Amino acid sequence: MIKQQQLCVLGSTGSIGVSTLDVVARHPERYGIFALTAHSQVEKLAAQCAQFRPQVAVVGTASAAEQLTALLKQSNLPGIQVHYGPQALCEVASANECDSVMAAIVGAAGLPASLAAARAGKKVLLANKEALVMSGDLFIDAIKRSGAALLPIDSEHNAIFQCLPHNYDGRPQQHGIHKILLTASGGPFLHRDIDSLTHVTPEEAIAHPNWVMGRKISIDSASMMNKGLEVIEAHWLFATPAEQIEVVIHPQSVVHSMVSYNDGSVLAQLGNPDMRTPIAYGLAYPERIASGVAPLDILKIGHLNFEAPDFKRFPCLALAYAALQTGLSAPTILNASNEIAVQAFLDGKIGFRMIDQIIARTLERLPASPVHDLDSILACDQEARVIASALIAA
Ligand code: NAD
Ligand code: MG
Repeated sequence: MIKQQQLCVLGSTGSIGVSTLDVVARHPERYGIFALTAHSQVEKLAAQCAQFRPQVAVVGTASAAEQLTALLKQSNLPGIQVHYGPQALCEVASANECDSVMAAIVGAAGLPASLAAARAGKKVLLANKEALVMSGDLFIDAIKRSGAALLPIDSEHNAIFQCLPHNYDGRPQQHGIHKILLTASGGPFLHRDIDSLTHVTPEEAIAHPNWVMGRKISIDSASMMNKGLEVIEAHWLFATPAEQIEVVIHPQSVVHSMVSYNDGSVLAQLGNPDMRTPIAYGLAYPERIASGVAPLDILKIGHLNFEAPDFKRFPCLALAYAALQTGLSAPTILNASNEIAVQAFLDGKIGFRMIDQIIARTLERLPASPVHDLDSILACDQEARVIASALIAA
């Protein structure tokens, strides 16, 4: 008999959270739910509680907690503890009762709880790329010190992880690795007239050709900041310098990434664009379990195309490479100003092409500085948000 793994799903009402619970529901003997968390979608969380019976549910505010408590009482589920706020997220992510944590909160808001899971030695399934972009070696160090396992859920990084040697120890040269080839769909604006990008609407930007995702990451995919964040994520996950991480546009999103070796071999992981594949791989690693994803019909796909990215069309990609080269707090500033600019675009306050300009100007105004701990990272994140917001207001 296998021991049932107890999971904490941070951000269970989001796109990744829902896909995670879909995989979990297929394997009740393997996975139990210790905790579910959501920011404001209380009714959705209540429905998830009814199905998965967690010990704890966490929401964003006291009033959301009151609402959830009432809903759980109505459904005759009084045994579920309800907590709220950022500290409660850190507590469930590091609780003794929990074995694995799916880190699927979007943005910087997910950093403290993801880091708490890493420090507590949990098996960390990392979807929340912004957390790693912001905290870099602090995060990797926490994983190493606590003996936690870190499994990348981002489809590209999950693919790379699958294509690396099993004994990969974070030294690319020792394993004959020439390059990481990070694939990118190019998003909805890959071939659209550049001048027309000034006037695109949030709806057009969110309409990703291959993936259905949360709003923020969908905009990041349209600007290719998502790929920029993923370059930084790959740097930390696989200890690979920026020069050895190459972005390759692959519009079909079937090859999820590749590793090129010194002997001329290139290993790739392929599959339908469905996040349940990397989620199932992370959950069951090193085993493989059913995820609900249909087998890939390679004949139906027929053609796989690859092209180089256009850094002029996608300035966010260049900004992310530059922030990685600068190091220190530059990736934190990049991430924070991007979050502010994306929200302003979604709110109709700025045009699409202003996103990269706000980020570039915030990076100019706020020089990169050393960050050593969570507090200094969060302080830098706040400072960058204030500057980016002021630029938008102006
Ligand atoms: P989403 O917007 O669909 O869901 C976000 C989740 O985070 C929700 O459950 C929400 O309640 C919670 N949340 C939001 N703000 C919060 C806050 N301030 N405090 C606590 N919880 C909060 O996002 P998503 O698309 O599921 O993405 C989640 C993460 O996974 C992101 O970091 C994203 O980059 C990454 N990711 C997503 C995909 C995908 O296919 N959706 C793929 C790769 C990586
Ligand atoms: Mg990805």
